[in-house]
Amino acid sequence: MRIDVITLFPDLFEPFQRQGVVRRAYDSGAIELRLWQLRDFATGNYRRIDDRPFGGGPGMVMAAQPLTDALTAIKADRAEPEGQRAPVVVFSPQGESITHRQVSGFASANQGAILICGRYEGIDQRFIDRHVDQQWSLGDFVLSGGEIAAIAWLDAVARLLPGVLGDADSHGQDSFNPSLDGLLDCPHYTRPEVWEGVRVPEALLSGNHAAIAAYRRHESLVVTARSRPDLIEAARRSGSISPAEEGLLATVKSRPQT
Ligand code: SAH
Repeated sequence: MRIDVITLFPDLFEPFQRQGVVRRAYDSGAIELRLWQLRDFATGNYRRIDDRPFGGGPGMVMAAQPLTDALTAIKADRAEPEGQRAPVVVFSPQGESITHRQVSGFASANQGAILICGRYEGIDQRFIDRHVDQQWSLGDFVLSGGEIAAIAWLDAVARLLPGVLGDADSHGQDSFNPSLDGLLDCPHYTRPEVWEGVRVPEALLSGNHAAIAAYRRHESLVVTARSRPDLIEAARRSGSISPAEEGLLATVKSRPQT
């Protein structure tokens, strides 16, 4: 899938295309990443891409025209027919939070996107109103730019694409996945069996597949009930919690949310 990114810092993306398992997504062409330097579309004598905010206040605002010119160039290059255009996305604290559901829907639709990374105080609202289809947030905190959000999102999409993770099934066992009923993953252990006096849970050493699956489900329920009771509630609503599991959950106290 082709993904275009408008950014003032294209170099930030390079290492993430070369390292770790997601490198395969780029090497194989499963993700074709095109980076567009916004400065190449700067206008006027001073070739600026930002200016002072109307109404005063700190910082600078990214101007609408260079962004529009970059977007026009990308759309021409993608040459997609009307009605099949990839969504134009801005990363923003005002956007909807990125979730597993959103990422996996995107990975399976294989449609591509045009991503815009903000900097400074953000982007002239008129550009957003005119050209942007969706706004995505990495969480309730403020970054200095959209690049880290874009890289995080790309990593999450890439690992879901076929052939990227070594074991084809391994993301099925990850947190938030429907095959875990949207719960959090269980704890993991590796050798040695005893480390600093602490032994790996007996069930995991038993070689008994049913006992291992039961242990993992139990732990997954406990971990999720403690730290993300909202995910338990969602699993309950979709009918994924058995009466016996309800009995277990009644004994687990959730951690106060910070
Ligand atoms: N004044 C803005 C923050 C601007 S931060 C506000 O208070 O909402 C500069 C840029 O970083 C933003 O335009 C956006 O592209 C990016 N950014 C900051 N926090 C983000 C977050 N939580 N998720 C996604 N992008 C974010």
